Amino acid sequence: MIYGAIEAGGTKFVCAVSDEKFDIKERVSIPTTTPQETLEQVFDFFDQYDLSAIGIGSFGPIDVNTDSSTYGYVTTTPKTAWKNYDFLGAIKERYAIPVGWTTDVNAAALGELRKGAALGLSSCVYLTVGTGIGGGAVVNGELLTGYGHPEMGHMMVRLHPDETFAGFCPYHGNCLEGIAAGPAIEKRYGKKGHELADEQHVWEMEAYYLAQALMNYTLVLSPERIVLGGGVMKQKQLFSLVRQEFEKLMAGYIELPPLEEYIAGPALGDNAGITGSLLLAAEQVK
Ligand code: ADP
Ligand code: ZN
Repeated sequence: MIYGAIEAGGTKFVCAVSDEKFDIKERVSIPTTTPQETLEQVFDFFDQYDLSAIGIGSFGPIDVNTDSSTYGYVTTTPKTAWKNYDFLGAIKERYAIPVGWTTDVNAAALGELRKGAALGLSSCVYLTVGTGIGGGAVVNGELLTGYGHPEMGHMMVRLHPDETFAGFCPYHGNCLEGIAAGPAIEKRYGKKGHELADEQHVWEMEAYYLAQALMNYTLVLSPERIVLGGGVMKQKQLFSLVRQEFEKLMAGYIELPPLEEYIAGPALGDNAGITGSLLLAAEQVK
């Protein structure tokens, strides 16, 4: 069997095909422009193969509710060309095979659980801290969705006493994404994250926020591991700062794995999403 996967991002689509062992045979990167233009290239790529199933991990918000009339749509995205677009429908129309559909971060969580940093476990959270903040989860081996999908980046957090920035989330202002995603750092200090590497207080404040989010994910979901990825986490010093702050906040209330293991970096690097999407494809034909 040959599996196809699409990691659909706001700036680029990564498409890949693999064998049953999930060894990637070929991959392409396609710019995200309009659905018509982008999907034409996606089709050109997949048309070369006799696929058994496709898995899609998509940027969102997306409709993952199978009872909904807009199941499979990209919904309220700021990328106007993709707003209310029937993405899953377009793929299904082209290929009469099973297609798995979830968020980009849910796919990354699945990838890290089965092939990466949470290998051998049955639950994990994957959080990306980049242009936005988004989280996905696998709980008891299943991707976490319900009426919709988790939006872990938009939770409210306590403000740092030294906070000066109002937040940039168009919906909530100073939700977690609004004050802790990459653009928040840039807007607060007037410099890009990588230019602030030596500014300890920048990363202490970042850890102050991320640790609160991790505390909440822990208390609600009891994951066995939390994997932190995305551009901002390239500041490796953040990991120990987040662990310290998290430990302080949790105050020994519940038993947890050692924090060096519990709060981990991604083992698959940039391949978490595409690997998870291939795994999702395979699940459709099981
Ligand atoms: P996206 O979220 O768009 O998929 P990334 O995960 O690469 O992309 O996140 C981009 C964000 O991460 C930008 O705001 C950028 O400033 C920030 N970023 C990228 N690299 C670093 C770095 N080395 N240190 C701090 N911030 C970074
Ligand atoms: Zn928000």
